[in-house]
Amino acid sequence: MKAPAPNSLISRVIARLTTFPRKHLITVGALCSVLIVTLALNPSKDSETKRHSQSIKLTLSNPEIQELLPDATVPMTPDLVPSVDWHVEKVRSGDNLSLIFQRAGLSDRDLFEFMGGHPDTKILKRIHPGHELEFHIEDDRLLGLRYRSNRLKSELFTREGSKFEHETETLQPDIHTAYREAEIKSSLFIAGQKVKMDANLIMELANIFGWDIDFGLDIRKGDHFKVLYEERFLNGEKIGNGNILAAEFTNQKETFKAVRYEDSKGDAHYYTPDGKSMRKAFLRAPLDFRRISSNFNPRRLHPITKTVRPHRGTDYAASRGTPVWSAGDGRVIRSGYTKPNGNYVVIQHGNNVQTKYLHLHKRKVKTGDRVKQRQVIGTVGSTGYSTAPHLHYEFLLDGVHRNPRTVLDKLPKARSIASSEMPRFLQNTQPLLTTLENHHQQILVAKAGHE
Ligand SMILES: [Zn+2]
Repeated sequence: MKAPAPNSLISRVIARLTTFPRKHLITVGALCSVLIVTLALNPSKDSETKRHSQSIKLTLSNPEIQELLPDATVPMTPDLVPSVDWHVEKVRSGDNLSLIFQRAGLSDRDLFEFMGGHPDTKILKRIHPGHELEFHIEDDRLLGLRYRSNRLKSELFTREGSKFEHETETLQPDIHTAYREAEIKSSLFIAGQKVKMDANLIMELANIFGWDIDFGLDIRKGDHFKVLYEERFLNGEKIGNGNILAAEFTNQKETFKAVRYEDSKGDAHYYTPDGKSMRKAFLRAPLDFRRISSNFNPRRLHPITKTVRPHRGTDYAASRGTPVWSAGDGRVIRSGYTKPNGNYVVIQHGNNVQTKYLHLHKRKVKTGDRVKQRQVIGTVGSTGYSTAPHLHYEFLLDGVHRNPRTVLDKLPKARSIASSEMPRFLQNTQPLLTTLENHHQQILVAKAGHE
């Protein structure tokens, strides 16, 4: 950090200037061009100059700017452009604004003055552990406060006399695409982690195919996937993943492809390459597959009758309390308790499909309720004839238990892209599918080169 400001007025102006992106500075006009040069010379402020401000209040009529630049022909050296010392305080658990102000060397009176200095200061009531407050203090006086709730957005309050001005600063991350592919040897998660995918990305991939594949029970050794997705960078540092753009999943030799498309109304969904929505009337598994334990033997002897009962459903072993979702939109026709079923829920979907959920720990819906797909209707338990927490799930078509995957043609059709939108769909999605395949080919070539 540079030496403290010789003059707090200058530093206040600079504090605001350094938060503007270069393109906005340029529009301020030639008078400020010398400042732009000096800012560019100061690489430590580079990140700040990229900041995208939503409310630009800087104008040439601003008397402070005119004071600062009485004569534009005199070039300013970097020494004349002092940087502001921002004192950073991280919000800790159990913190409050009074404690944070104290740590920054300010009093409750300063806090009171600040909170009264602009109506938007009430945003600071939303502070959470991990958020950051940056203080610009000079001569024991609070001149600026920046509240940063995440890497991309911050709220800046700048003193104007006894009041404060407020502006929201938003950073635009750089987006790059990344590609991963893997073959599953034991589990989707381990395969994903081996190729350095984080848990959210793996989960998102599973969600895209969650209407076609039961990730709790259908996954087999040799299944494989490809995924093209966005990575977000800030100043060259990765700050997280963006959307999955295209993906392919081969499950038990059947291959599913999905591509992300934002339609002309701005709604983004996943579609098959020929424009059918990946969303279907029924989820394949009515609970989060990550909570399903695979070493569950549904053919074990029934604990009460000591026989292998004819089994007309799917058993998902999961810990007690795991949320159970409705597999599709529908109406609860029974939410009750019987000795064999324990707490159970039956949902009617349209005319011909029913789903049943047995042995629940808690029921979260009542008979007669309307439910949406993926709405929590209860939690996994072990009530009724059950020896360990699990969900017994049944899917009945016209009263007969069926595997929803094999009766897809009898179920409501997934929505498709309107024919009028089809050219736009293809134009936007085909390059993504091509990129997905090109990445795969490159990896094949690279592998061949190693052998
Ligand atoms: Zn069962």
